Amino acid sequence: MLSALKPIFNDLFSLFFPKLCLGCKEALLLPKHCLCYRCEIMLPPTYFHLLSENPMGDRMSTSPQLKQLFSLYFFEPTGIMESMLYALKYQGNKSVGVFFGRKLAAAMAASSAHFDGIIGVPLHPKRKRKRGYNQVDIIGETAAKALAIPYYNRALSRTKNTPPLSKTKGERAEVLANAFRVKETLPAGGHYLLLDDIYTTGATLNACAKILLEEGRISLSIATVAYRN
Ligand SMILES: [Zn+2]
Repeated sequence: MLSALKPIFNDLFSLFFPKLCLGCKEALLLPKHCLCYRCEIMLPPTYFHLLSENPMGDRMSTSPQLKQLFSLYFFEPTGIMESMLYALKYQGNKSVGVFFGRKLAAAMAASSAHFDGIIGVPLHPKRKRKRGYNQVDIIGETAAKALAIPYYNRALSRTKNTPPLSKTKGERAEVLANAFRVKETLPAGGHYLLLDDIYTTGATLNACAKILLEEGRISLSIATVAYRN
């Protein structure tokens, strides 16, 4: 009986306390969404994977070995992407992860490549415990489910807890270079997509790509939902 009434309570609740769009802060018609349609079309796509000179490769030594480099949207420090990533990472708004996961799946499906699975960049266990989840897993699981391919959230482990932006670029790259370990052997011969939420220096993805490629049995592409200039 109570479960039958739940949708009615939910409707009443959202009538009095509507969920707000993370862009314009207007009430959302569909509570499972995180943006209104007007704000969604304002998101600035990079289309990097369609360019012959993809700028994501410039910051990564592993880029000649990578098949494709995706980043969905440009990140601006005070823009909608900033609000969305903040809500996903620090306010438990998992609908943002689902939104990005669906967009990522659409970009992967539209590309000419076939993917055998998605690998999430891990958080350090301490940080994951504190947050309760890894935001990259929500994006990756949604995309993998949409494409009917496996999501590997334990392929890598993070052995060093590196505080974000606490060091200079060079120092950070050096720390990150030894911050990850391969934990799970992936099926050989596959093409996998290594996924993180934001691309800034490229150091995190580069460190992860390097150890995955060192195994020498797989091919790899990378993706992030945001790209910071
Ligand atoms: Zn809006």
